[in-house]
Amino acid sequence: MQREPDATIRVGVGYDSHRFVPGRPLILGGVLIPSETGLLGHSDADAVCHAIIDAILGAAGQGDIGEMFPDTDPANKGRDSIGMLEAAVRKISAAGYSVNQVDVSVVAESPQLSPHREKIRARLASALGIDSSSVSVKGKSNEGMGWIGRSEGLACIAVATLKRNR
Ligand code: MG
Repeated sequence: MQREPDATIRVGVGYDSHRFVPGRPLILGGVLIPSETGLLGHSDADAVCHAIIDAILGAAGQGDIGEMFPDTDPANKGRDSIGMLEAAVRKISAAGYSVNQVDVSVVAESPQLSPHREKIRARLASALGIDSSSVSVKGKSNEGMGWIGRSEGLACIAVATLKRNR
Protein backbone atom coordinates (compact mmCIF):
# COMPACT_ATOMS: atom_id res chain seq x y z
CA MET A 1 0.00 0.00 0.00
CA GLN A 2 1.30 3.47 -0.87
CA ARG A 3 2.03 5.62 2.14
CA GLU A 4 0.78 9.25 2.15
CA PRO A 5 3.72 11.67 2.39
CA ASP A 6 3.78 14.03 5.38
CA ALA A 7 1.95 16.97 3.85
CA THR A 8 2.05 19.31 6.86
CA ILE A 9 4.92 21.33 5.38
CA ARG A 10 5.93 21.14 1.71
CA VAL A 11 9.17 22.50 0.25
CA GLY A 12 9.73 23.77 -3.30
CA VAL A 13 12.70 25.18 -5.17
CA GLY A 14 12.65 27.61 -8.10
CA TYR A 15 15.35 28.95 -10.42
CA ASP A 16 15.30 31.70 -13.01
CA SER A 17 17.77 33.68 -15.08
CA HIS A 18 17.45 36.61 -17.47
CA ARG A 19 19.84 38.48 -19.73
CA PHE A 20 20.87 42.10 -19.11
CA VAL A 21 20.14 44.46 -22.02
CA PRO A 22 20.23 48.25 -22.34
CA GLY A 23 16.94 50.14 -22.49
CA ARG A 24 14.89 47.91 -20.21
CA PRO A 25 13.90 48.63 -16.60
CA LEU A 26 15.43 46.45 -13.89
CA ILE A 27 12.59 45.11 -11.75
CA LEU A 28 13.38 42.67 -8.96
CA GLY A 29 10.78 41.48 -6.48
CA GLY A 30 8.38 44.09 -7.85
CA VAL A 31 10.79 46.96 -7.12
CA LEU A 32 12.28 49.20 -9.82
CA ILE A 33 16.04 49.33 -9.26
CA PRO A 34 18.16 52.11 -10.80
CA SER A 35 20.46 50.47 -13.34
CA GLU A 36 21.92 51.17 -16.78
CA THR A 37 20.68 47.81 -17.99
CA GLY A 38 17.49 45.87 -17.36
CA LEU A 39 16.42 42.29 -17.90
CA LEU A 40 15.20 40.92 -21.22
CA GLY A 41 12.03 38.85 -21.15
CA HIS A 42 8.53 38.38 -22.48
CA SER A 43 7.01 39.68 -19.23
CA ASP A 44 8.67 42.38 -17.09
CA ALA A 45 11.49 39.79 -16.59
CA ASP A 46 11.35 39.97 -12.78
CA ALA A 47 13.53 36.92 -12.09
CA VAL A 48 12.95 37.12 -8.32
CA CYS A 49 9.17 36.77 -8.72
CA HIS A 50 9.63 34.05 -11.37
CA ALA A 51 11.88 31.93 -9.14
CA ILE A 52 9.44 32.28 -6.23
CA ILE A 53 6.48 31.33 -8.46
CA ASP A 54 8.26 28.10 -9.45
CA ALA A 55 9.16 27.40 -5.81
CA ILE A 56 5.59 27.71 -4.55
CA LEU A 57 4.06 25.87 -7.54
CA GLY A 58 6.68 23.14 -7.10
CA ALA A 59 5.99 22.79 -3.38
CA ALA A 60 2.28 22.33 -4.10
CA GLY A 61 2.88 19.97 -7.03
CA GLN A 62 1.02 22.44 -9.26
CA GLY A 63 3.25 22.56 -12.33
CA ASP A 64 5.48 25.49 -13.24
CA ILE A 65 5.50 29.10 -14.41
CA GLY A 66 5.85 28.20 -18.11
CA GLU A 67 2.69 26.12 -17.93
CA MET A 68 0.76 28.79 -16.04
CA PHE A 69 1.95 31.78 -18.11
CA PRO A 70 3.11 30.57 -21.57
CA ASP A 71 5.40 33.08 -23.31
CA THR A 72 3.49 32.35 -26.53
CA ASP A 73 0.43 34.04 -24.98
CA PRO A 74 0.28 37.75 -25.97
CA ALA A 75 -1.56 38.42 -22.68
CA ASN A 76 1.71 37.71 -20.86
CA LYS A 77 3.73 40.25 -22.86
CA GLY A 78 5.18 42.91 -20.55
CA ARG A 79 3.16 41.39 -17.74
CA ASP A 80 3.66 42.56 -14.16
CA SER A 81 5.27 39.63 -12.35
CA ILE A 82 3.86 40.62 -8.96
CA GLY A 83 0.42 39.98 -10.48
CA MET A 84 1.69 36.60 -11.75
CA LEU A 85 2.96 35.80 -8.24
CA GLU A 86 -0.42 36.71 -6.75
CA ALA A 87 -2.12 34.40 -9.30
CA ALA A 88 0.25 31.56 -8.34
CA VAL A 89 -0.62 32.12 -4.65
CA ARG A 90 -4.33 31.85 -5.55
CA LYS A 91 -3.61 28.62 -7.45
CA ILE A 92 -1.81 26.91 -4.56
CA SER A 93 -4.46 28.24 -2.19
CA ALA A 94 -7.16 26.54 -4.30
CA ALA A 95 -5.09 23.34 -4.02
CA GLY A 96 -5.23 23.62 -0.21
CA TYR A 97 -1.93 25.31 0.63
CA SER A 98 -0.75 28.65 1.96
CA VAL A 99 2.73 30.14 1.80
CA ASN A 100 4.67 29.72 5.04
CA GLN A 101 8.04 31.30 4.23
CA VAL A 102 10.28 32.18 1.28
CA ASP A 103 14.06 32.54 0.92
CA VAL A 104 15.67 33.97 -2.23
CA SER A 105 19.26 34.37 -3.40
CA VAL A 106 19.96 36.78 -6.27
CA VAL A 107 23.29 36.11 -7.99
CA ALA A 108 24.58 39.17 -9.88
CA GLU A 109 27.75 41.25 -10.11
CA SER A 110 25.71 44.48 -9.99
CA PRO A 111 23.72 46.39 -8.96
CA GLN A 112 24.01 45.92 -5.21
CA LEU A 113 20.78 44.57 -3.81
CA SER A 114 21.21 45.57 -0.17
CA PRO A 115 19.92 49.19 -0.50
CA HIS A 116 16.64 47.79 -1.92
CA ARG A 117 16.32 44.69 0.22
CA GLU A 118 13.67 45.93 2.70
CA LYS A 119 11.48 47.35 -0.05
CA ILE A 120 11.67 44.07 -1.99
CA ARG A 121 10.85 42.03 1.12
CA ALA A 122 7.80 44.20 1.84
CA ARG A 123 6.55 44.04 -1.77
CA LEU A 124 6.95 40.25 -1.95
CA ALA A 125 5.40 39.75 1.49
CA SER A 126 2.28 41.66 0.48
CA ALA A 127 1.94 39.61 -2.74
CA LEU A 128 2.49 36.36 -0.83
CA GLY A 129 0.09 37.30 1.98
CA ILE A 130 2.70 36.79 4.70
CA ASP A 131 4.76 38.98 7.03
CA SER A 132 8.00 40.42 5.65
CA SER A 133 9.84 38.67 8.49
CA SER A 134 8.97 35.44 6.60
CA VAL A 135 10.55 36.69 3.35
CA SER A 136 14.32 36.62 3.01
CA VAL A 137 16.19 38.20 0.07
CA LYS A 138 19.94 37.81 -0.24
CA GLY A 139 22.36 39.21 -2.82
CA LYS A 140 25.50 37.34 -3.94
CA SER A 141 28.17 38.14 -6.49
CA ASN A 142 29.55 35.34 -8.65
CA GLU A 143 33.14 36.42 -7.89
CA GLY A 144 33.58 37.55 -11.51
CA MET A 145 33.20 34.03 -12.88
CA GLY A 146 31.29 32.94 -15.99
CA TRP A 147 28.28 34.65 -17.61
CA ILE A 148 27.12 36.19 -14.35
CA GLY A 149 30.66 37.42 -13.70
CA ARG A 150 30.69 39.09 -17.13
CA SER A 151 27.35 40.78 -16.22
CA GLU A 152 25.56 39.09 -19.12
CA GLY A 153 22.63 38.39 -16.83
CA LEU A 154 21.57 37.41 -13.36
CA ALA A 155 20.20 34.29 -11.71
CA CYS A 156 17.79 33.75 -8.81
CA ILE A 157 17.25 30.72 -6.63
CA ALA A 158 14.20 30.56 -4.37
CA VAL A 159 13.04 28.09 -1.74
CA ALA A 160 9.50 28.19 -0.40
CA THR A 161 7.71 26.25 2.30
CA LEU A 162 3.93 25.84 2.24
CA LYS A 163 1.49 24.83 4.94
CA ARG A 164 -1.47 22.57 4.25
CA ASN A 165 -4.77 24.28 4.99
CA ARG A 166 -7.07 21.30 4.86
MG1 MG B 1 11.76 34.39 -15.96
